[in-house]
Amino acid sequence: MLSFEEARGKVIATVRALRGPLATETVELSRASGRILAQPVTADRDYPPFDRSIRDGFALRADDAVPGATLRCIGEIKAGSGFDGVVGPGECVQIMTGAAVPAGADAVVMIEHVSIDGDRVMLSRAATPGQSIVARGKEARAGQQLLAAGTRLGYAEMGLAGQVGSHRVSLFKRPRAAILSTGDEVVDISAAPGPLQVRNGNSIALDALAALTGAESELLGNAPDEKKELRRCIERGLEANVLIISGGVSMGKYDLVEMVLGELGTQVVYDSVAIRPGRPAVFGVCRGKPVFGLPGNPVSTMVTFELFVVPAIDVLSGAEPRPLPIFRARLTHALREKSELTHFLPARVETVKGEPEVSALPWQGSGDVVAIAQSNAFLIVSPEKLNWNAGEMALVLPRPGLL
Ligand code: AMP
Ligand code: MG
Repeated sequence: MLSFEEARGKVIATVRALRGPLATETVELSRASGRILAQPVTADRDYPPFDRSIRDGFALRADDAVPGATLRCIGEIKAGSGFDGVVGPGECVQIMTGAAVPAGADAVVMIEHVSIDGDRVMLSRAATPGQSIVARGKEARAGQQLLAAGTRLGYAEMGLAGQVGSHRVSLFKRPRAAILSTGDEVVDISAAPGPLQVRNGNSIALDALAALTGAESELLGNAPDEKKELRRCIERGLEANVLIISGGVSMGKYDLVEMVLGELGTQVVYDSVAIRPGRPAVFGVCRGKPVFGLPGNPVSTMVTFELFVVPAIDVLSGAEPRPLPIFRARLTHALREKSELTHFLPARVETVKGEPEVSALPWQGSGDVVAIAQSNAFLIVSPEKLNWNAGEMALVLPRPGLL
């Protein structure tokens, strides 16, 4: 059986190999947050565009800055305005953060390091040439590539693109993810379920996960545990860029997803992974499209989406797959696990005195949506170490968007 890292690697390699050229669109930058650049962003001019003061203080000649020296202040410059004169020997100009350093000056002394008496400015320490100045073009040169194609636009990238004049950007179109649940017992979330029915929580959770990951989802509703109708729904889902099915992949008599996928000619890449929850997860390629069969228990569906579907959507989005954001946190309690699988336990991470601490939550297994909704992370327990003491550093996988 594959480890989750191996299964993830196979997903990434498979989706990369089948991905064709991606469609692009031009979008207002203000609508582009989280999207992937199809064209690079370049600097429209030098940055900074002028020698910029990074302090409130006095622009002067560094040679004049002898401790105890007194200079004559000949004017002031605020951010956005220029200065016509030239700073000569024995002179200085009051300057604000973000303003252009005037001709003649080659250093800025912080206002905290002088004393002022009318137009007399007394220096308390020496200055070096270039002090408190960022020279024109030091951050970037005009024409320089600042963000490569394939970059995800986070807040800093958005700010940079806006700063350099890319108010419209060329982006890859979002991949379309078809979401199909299965099971005779599953009814719509707006329905009043019969005593033995369950509402379709998975489709709404998968829809939310797809949106968080950057896909546009198409909710196909629910297919019954009946081959003909299931096949019809799967074929419809294959019109999207990726098909995500929940339920129907276990060993039960009515778990028909793998059988129907097989009949449709799916090349199965894996049909089980050494994880709990989520062991019967299926991944394959059907008619050139990646297809995921995620186990139907809600926590299994969510864990397997985060581990396997996220990197597939990343690749289909035109980005590099994001690394799994696993980190270490101090376990607040002892822990004993038995099986030879890697466990993903619903857990809470809190920062205590600057250090992350993690506690597994009580839960009733992979159907327990109440427990998972209390969590902000999964505690990972691998078969190499099943017994843990309080205080040991354990691996944690955040739930997307919560940590
Ligand atoms: P399955 O993987 O089809 O064997 O389903 C496993 C468990 O998950 C069963 O208890 C199902 O009732 C439940 N389940 C399956 N699909 C959904 C769904 N769409 N929403 C909520 N629970 C589901
Ligand atoms: Mg089922």
